[in-house]
Amino acid sequence: MQYNKLNDFEKSVIENKGTEPAFTGQYDNFYKPGTYICRKCNQPLYSSKAKFDAGCGWPAYDDHFPNSVNRSIDKDGSRIEITCSNCGGHLGHVFEGEGLTDKNVRHCVNSVSVKFVDESEQLPPIININETIILAGGCFWCTEAIFKQLRGVVEVTPGYTGGTLKNPTYEDVTSGNTGHAEAVQIIFDPNIITLNTILEIFFATHDPTTLNRQGNDIGTQYRSEVFYITQSQKEVSEKYILEISNNYTNPIVTKVSPFSEFYEAELYHKQYYFNNKFNPYCMFVISPKIQKLMKEYSKYISN
Ligand SMILES: [Zn+2]
Repeated sequence: MQYNKLNDFEKSVIENKGTEPAFTGQYDNFYKPGTYICRKCNQPLYSSKAKFDAGCGWPAYDDHFPNSVNRSIDKDGSRIEITCSNCGGHLGHVFEGEGLTDKNVRHCVNSVSVKFVDESEQLPPIININETIILAGGCFWCTEAIFKQLRGVVEVTPGYTGGTLKNPTYEDVTSGNTGHAEAVQIIFDPNIITLNTILEIFFATHDPTTLNRQGNDIGTQYRSEVFYITQSQKEVSEKYILEISNNYTNPIVTKVSPFSEFYEAELYHKQYYFNNKFNPYCMFVISPKIQKLMKEYSKYISN
């Protein structure tokens, strides 16, 4: 299966986070009833009912379909970027508190990122080719910050997995008695980034030879473990660990286990590094890892 073909201009916006010039897009001044879907993967994003004239030169919506749009801090450090939750395609930015509509939200979207389907027409099927893997490699503030940087990674969610307690809280997991590991659920597009590359970066950014420990973080919740969803992921992971085992003086203790349940972490753990850059843990533990990543793996970093 493949995503919809994009021309060079569409690619520059959707895949390279560009912006179409204001007042030039096909839907800037367009108000027919229907649905706006992602141009790359067909996921429905916005209803025409949510569209309003913000006068800014780009289509504006004050609501989106549930779970269709992800938010993250833009590379400029201040704006909130919005992307399609299925394919990771760049849509634009979201602004709150402007008082333009009752919902007080403005999704400022490039026309070229979406495609209008008239209400009289049938919506095309959603194209989904992403893969999901769950990795535990110590504190999830670290692993989330690292994997969020990578091109082809659509979504990174911190959470808990591999234990027994249902719906654990951070405090439950920190006690070390629930069997859960701090982990990240990584959704990626295998056409852009392979599982091998994800594993390469995973092993380069944590110590797979210390049992239940990463630096000063000690406990089973900080263990190193790959949770696979497919048989192929199991094989790729085991083979990769075997290949790199000679690079380490001590044996690799990383386990490769079948995935069972993943519990999303509390909201304040999300984008922790980006929101708490001056926290000493972020400055002294996470920042050096991010710097290493930027230096040694720059070809995989999204721009
Ligand atoms: Zn999409």
